[in-house]
Amino acid sequence: MKVLVINCGSSSLKYQLIDMENEQVLAKGNYERIGQKNSFVTHKVAGEKYVIEHPVSSHKEAFEIMLEQLQHKDYGVIKDLNEINAIGHRIPHGTDMFDKSVLITDEVIAEIEKTTELAPIHNPPTINGIKACKEIMPGKPMVAVFDTAFHHTIPEERYIYPVPYKYYEKYKMRKYGFHGTSHRYVSARVAELVGKPVTELKTIVCHLGQGASLCAVLNGESVDTSMGFTPVAGIPMCARSGDLDPSIVTFLMRKEGLTPDEIDTILNKESGVLGISGISPDFRDIEKAADEGNERAVLARKSYCYLVAQYIAKYGVSMNGIDVIAFTAGIGENQINIRKMICENLEWLGVKIDLEKNNCRGEEVEISTPDSKIKVWIVPTNEELVIARDTKQIVEKL
Ligand code: AMP
Repeated sequence: MKVLVINCGSSSLKYQLIDMENEQVLAKGNYERIGQKNSFVTHKVAGEKYVIEHPVSSHKEAFEIMLEQLQHKDYGVIKDLNEINAIGHRIPHGTDMFDKSVLITDEVIAEIEKTTELAPIHNPPTINGIKACKEIMPGKPMVAVFDTAFHHTIPEERYIYPVPYKYYEKYKMRKYGFHGTSHRYVSARVAELVGKPVTELKTIVCHLGQGASLCAVLNGESVDTSMGFTPVAGIPMCARSGDLDPSIVTFLMRKEGLTPDEIDTILNKESGVLGISGISPDFRDIEKAADEGNERAVLARKSYCYLVAQYIAKYGVSMNGIDVIAFTAGIGENQINIRKMICENLEWLGVKIDLEKNNCRGEEVEISTPDSKIKVWIVPTNEELVIARDTKQIVEKL
């Protein structure tokens, strides 16, 4: 079975075509800046990368170009569209409606459309993507995989916010958590790597990317996570604030005369390590500036590592212990010094890492020393594979 995995952002579309016989990626690509003049497409087949500058006006057009590329006479990987057996869609927000992946029907599309109130930025592009696929490949089975679904096991006392209960009833205002597909993949994979059933492990997954969240995975289930009602909560991120004293929001709005949209922009796009350093949202730039002695870059880096470590310790409370810490995503997989600094804050817990083993990027590797009380691993995430596996499992039963 060949599964096409689709991940639509507001101005992007990422795809992978995966052969599920051996779980190999046949082709993958990115459409960036959809709807803008300088949009471009990258398409990768067997390590070869093709970059095509091509205006792409909509997700539907991106989808059409992608299908042409997959069948291209020089670098295509399929002869015709019948070779694609099913399509898996990543959906950022499943609210409290979806606790697992589902086959997409008209009713499911209508339900996902209802979620846009809670995810006005993240869900509409994915709905566009689903509709485009339906139009271009009618009848092809499609599956929705939700980033929030893995967190449905978080107990009520951990997802409820201490504000008047009527807002929970009125607006479904509660912790949802995100990156569930990544947390699910990494927690299961690290269990295989340490050679223990996932049902017998207390794992903390640190998904540290541009967006970042931690998840306490107890015996294979999410029991707490750092993102909340929205993906702004939790640890500080590249440009998102993470947790704050809530009164800072109203204080700033009053002092600076800000509208709700303006304060949203500050918290989502101008905060985090970018906000503190004033340099960049990219950790590579922060590291370089900090190493050159830039004081605010040093401050941003220290604050980030302290707060991530503090969350790890909190999740020891959530699970009554920690067996494994797993780092993943762009920063978790690649930023050697950030991993080291986070772990230094956890020495009191008996965390010890081997600096030589830690000196690597993007590899599946244990970086803790044999006498470390908690195992520490790097596990590159693979959300697309989880989406493809769920799609296969659901479509096979049809
Ligand atoms: P993500 O959202 O998972 O793509 O992560 C983006 C972040 O990962 C950026 O802030 C980068 O600093 C960091 N990152 C990505 N690739 C690398 C790399 N090869 N080396 C160091 N940092 C990286």
